[in-house]
Amino acid sequence: MVSSIYMDYSSTTPVDPAVAEAMYPFFSEKYGNPSSLYTKGREAKKAIEEARQEVADLIGARKEEVFFTGSGTESDNLAIKGTAYKNRKKGNHIITSSIEHHAVLNTCKFLEIQGFDVTYLPVSREGLINQDDVENAITGKTILISIMHANNEIGTIQPVREIGKLAKDMGITFHSDAVQTAGKIPLNVDELNVDLLSMSAHKMYGPKGVGALYIRKGIHLEPLLHGGGHERNMRPGTENVPGIVGFGKAAELAKKHLPDEEKLVILRDSLIKGILEIEDSYLNGHATKRLPNNANFRFSFIEGESMILILDMKGVAASTGSACSSASLEPSHVLSALGLKPEEAHGSLRLTLGIGNTQEDVDYVVSVLPGIVGKLRMMSPLAR
Ligand SMILES: *Cc1c(COP(=O)(O)O)cnc(C)c1O
Repeated sequence: MVSSIYMDYSSTTPVDPAVAEAMYPFFSEKYGNPSSLYTKGREAKKAIEEARQEVADLIGARKEEVFFTGSGTESDNLAIKGTAYKNRKKGNHIITSSIEHHAVLNTCKFLEIQGFDVTYLPVSREGLINQDDVENAITGKTILISIMHANNEIGTIQPVREIGKLAKDMGITFHSDAVQTAGKIPLNVDELNVDLLSMSAHKMYGPKGVGALYIRKGIHLEPLLHGGGHERNMRPGTENVPGIVGFGKAAELAKKHLPDEEKLVILRDSLIKGILEIEDSYLNGHATKRLPNNANFRFSFIEGESMILILDMKGVAASTGSACSSASLEPSHVLSALGLKPEEAHGSLRLTLGIGNTQEDVDYVVSVLPGIVGKLRMMSPLAR
């Protein structure tokens, strides 16, 4: 059965019809290469620049500080490797957290092989990074601090502004992966004290395969790709014009829809209240410092994968751990970092809300879940 209630908006979102509509002409009649000098080329170029302005406006940046990439993953790679390679002579130390998205974690692991030193900061039981830990980790060789704005699994929002201030005072480049917060909560690069900020269109009702990296004026990165002069030499390759146009439209709409996203708190809290009625159920992440659309639970004695499959049969799309790690049986690195035992982490359920969800959806999930958990526990060798 195809799930009719989608509660996995942190994995991806449907493209807003207005976004799709804005994109169409750039597949067909407006197919010009933005680098071409004639009218068709200039038309595409103009559309890219308008999209750049929209994305800049969403985060309080200047248009020239926004660079389009092929994904949130690429933005993270460019921010981290770009800083590391550019500053190799200054130092080789990077500070990040143990709960970053794999796009950050695996980039850092790759850099370790190349001689960089990486500190992976621990988090509290609620998933919060301690600012003192950041401060204590800084050495004379620290060239980059990369801390995500909000976590994609448990939704915990980090004290990015404070960490950014610390980085700024120490003259260290500060990157934040804001893929989960862009379009969900207000973002301002100056208030957050960030030098680099990653975004991805498909997490905010835009198309897949397009991202952006905010690069503060005066911050220099080594590009990862070499080719033509696109994106001011920072990301060569003929631009994904329809994708970028879609991202621009999604950013424009996201600004308008911010109050709706914030209102998801009401649905989220209703979901949390209803689900925590289930015996031996717990909320993962922070009670208040969390994304307005994120609810993440764990249920003792059961497997998250089984829960997802039964929920799917009942028409609900949800996830356990993160979509990337659900293909493996390893417990999610985020839940492990909270100090959960593997058997606790395995019984996790992430429900992430979006624009299409209603109170009826919440009520339905709250009504079917106790039965699912009960049935799985009856079959579980772990249950008493
Ligand atoms: C989805 C996600 C990414 C990766 O973005 P893609 O565009 O899918 O590559 C990176 N970081 C976080 C926090 C995410 O949620």
